[in-house]
Amino acid sequence: MQYCNFCGRSADEVVMLISGLEAHICDDCVEKAREIVEEQLDRAGNSKKNTRYGQSPRLIPPREIKAFLDQYVIGQDEAKKVLAVAVYNHYKRIQQTEVGKGKPADPDAVEIEKSNILLVGPTGTGKTLLAKTIARLLHVPFTIVDATVFTEAGYVGEDVESILSRLLQVCDYDVSAAERGIVYIDEIDKIARKQDNPSITRDVSGEGVQQALLKMLEGADVLVPPQGGRKHPEQKMVKVNTENILFICGGAFDGIEKIIARRVNTQVIGYGKARTEHVDRDNLLRYLSAQDVKQYGLIPELVGRLPVIVHLEPLDADTLQKILTQPRNALLRQYKQLFALEGIELDITPDAIQYIAEKAIEYKLGARGLRSLCEAILTDAMFDPEKELKGARPKKLVVDRQYAAEKISRSGLNSQRAA
Ligand code: ADP
Repeated sequence: MQYCNFCGRSADEVVMLISGLEAHICDDCVEKAREIVEEQLDRAGNSKKNTRYGQSPRLIPPREIKAFLDQYVIGQDEAKKVLAVAVYNHYKRIQQTEVGKGKPADPDAVEIEKSNILLVGPTGTGKTLLAKTIARLLHVPFTIVDATVFTEAGYVGEDVESILSRLLQVCDYDVSAAERGIVYIDEIDKIARKQDNPSITRDVSGEGVQQALLKMLEGADVLVPPQGGRKHPEQKMVKVNTENILFICGGAFDGIEKIIARRVNTQVIGYGKARTEHVDRDNLLRYLSAQDVKQYGLIPELVGRLPVIVHLEPLDADTLQKILTQPRNALLRQYKQLFALEGIELDITPDAIQYIAEKAIEYKLGARGLRSLCEAILTDAMFDPEKELKGARPKKLVVDRQYAAEKISRSGLNSQRAA
């Protein structure tokens, strides 16, 4: 009798036994092995599909970029438009320049400067999602880093070069692919220079990091430790040129409205009262300018390297409802699918959807809160479906406002309100 050398089952216990030179494997173990391989590749951001990055990203016109974004990101039309144009110009620029040298291929051509992007908007409004979706469309390596983990070289924390290590890891150390990639730097506002820093010691996490980022954003040859971590002399470094890497920075910039308000007020004084009334006080972010970001504490040189500034709108209840239902991988679609796999039809009524959106606004978590709300509502049903179905046949779970409210009130979420 032959046995699977992986799980030990005999040939008559499995559907199929495949034989190698000296061992056998059953169909079950083949399937499990395939899952492990896929999981590992995915974890490294390296699914088989995207290990190969094309030579040059296809030049996609802004309209097409926006149409693609529309499938995944709800609202934020202005941001999408500006982003689409900036990304288009960025890759147009790459096509014009000799990769890595920063000089126009045609010596008579005008050199187009790099346009890194700054996204400003409250948390959970889609900044990361926009950056991620664009990278997916262009099929270029993409990585997200958090600015708060960086410190100046010589201090405890990560060097900014580790950004590039991550980008290299994503594309399996294909340096030329990494050199055309997109990096999303989150929480850039958290490394702002503190205006009234009482400390007389060096500002370890703020300005020094901004200076280090500046070089990278400008475009430079950077020596990168391929495995990340600190540089140490024995480690072999990889040279990465950042000239053609698109940096998208994002941050909530809490309190920047006050700076904007102050500036807008001073500007309108000269025009008399009539002009002042046109200022939309509820959404001061729309008047955001580079000046405000500087005032907030980003060093002028860094702001100069982020010439495209985009603001994101806060999400209202209507938009949140759309986020729940419309995107291709909308949350509610995902839950429906999960229940369908159990043979249960999930019906979330429009007033329940409205309720979830209202709660998300109440908790001030933007779209980020939607997931935890849905989890709180549906966990019981996912844990013990039969109990929630109460014998309904065919199996259909109706979630209406009352059902949702009941589950939320019993969940730990209510305690988040105070936060
Ligand atoms: P942030 O602005 O803080 O970077 P994210 O982009 O990480 O926010 O969004 C958090 C979650 O909310 C994501 O899972 C995303 O799917 C969802 N989300 C946020 N804004 C939108 C939007 N405009 N359209 C669709 N989903 C959104």
